[in-house]
Amino acid sequence: MIKENLKNITLKIEKAAKNYSPNHKVELLAVSKYTDIDSIKEAFACGQMRFGENKIQDLKLKALELPKAKWHMIGHLQTNKINGMLELHSEVGLELFESLDSLKLARLLQKHLEFKNETLNCLLQVNSAREESKSGFLEEELLEAFEVISKECKNLKILGLMCIGAHVEDRAVIEKSFKKTKDLFDEIGVLSVLSMGMSSDYELAIANGSNLVRIGSAIFKK
Ligand SMILES: *Cc1c(COP(=O)(O)O)cnc(C)c1O
Repeated sequence: MIKENLKNITLKIEKAAKNYSPNHKVELLAVSKYTDIDSIKEAFACGQMRFGENKIQDLKLKALELPKAKWHMIGHLQTNKINGMLELHSEVGLELFESLDSLKLARLLQKHLEFKNETLNCLLQVNSAREESKSGFLEEELLEAFEVISKECKNLKILGLMCIGAHVEDRAVIEKSFKKTKDLFDEIGVLSVLSMGMSSDYELAIANGSNLVRIGSAIFKK
């Protein structure tokens, strides 16, 4: 089932990417937060390289079981989990921390990374849907946050932006949250990664320029 799901999703991603622009490439992050290590290993055996988790404890357990995969942290990082994440980063090398969502967190991470003489690839999370339940920078805060972090936090490599589409039925409203994030991405101009789209809205996200989709349930559903 995982194999078929991956194949179907990959085809849909390729189609959406081609529709967006002939040379557009989209990476698939398999979000494994609701699944066990056996299913992750099954997906890895099918050629799926990248996996994402939203809790440090789970990320640690799974990444240490499968260090050959490329791992992303995609959830809000509490400050008391910074050490845990960076220890794991020293051990297996996290590919990307997708959910850098405040200046305070950036500065704390910088302190730790500087001390360890390590760098961390990050995305800034944008709360483009302006939902209180979500973390991230508001649209109007983002450009300044990018400048401050780039200047002060040399051990954080800001590669791009991440957002979660609006949590509503109306496709036009979801699309608006993607468009806003893409506009900020273009305005900054020097970023390469635009992480948008989950199981229910990844084709719409790609149609709006996403080049990294984070898909969980559509891959691992039984
Ligand atoms: C859970 C999660 C996903 C994947 O959601 P699905 O609907 O299962 O595809 C993507 N991004 C983030 C930040 C998540 O927490």
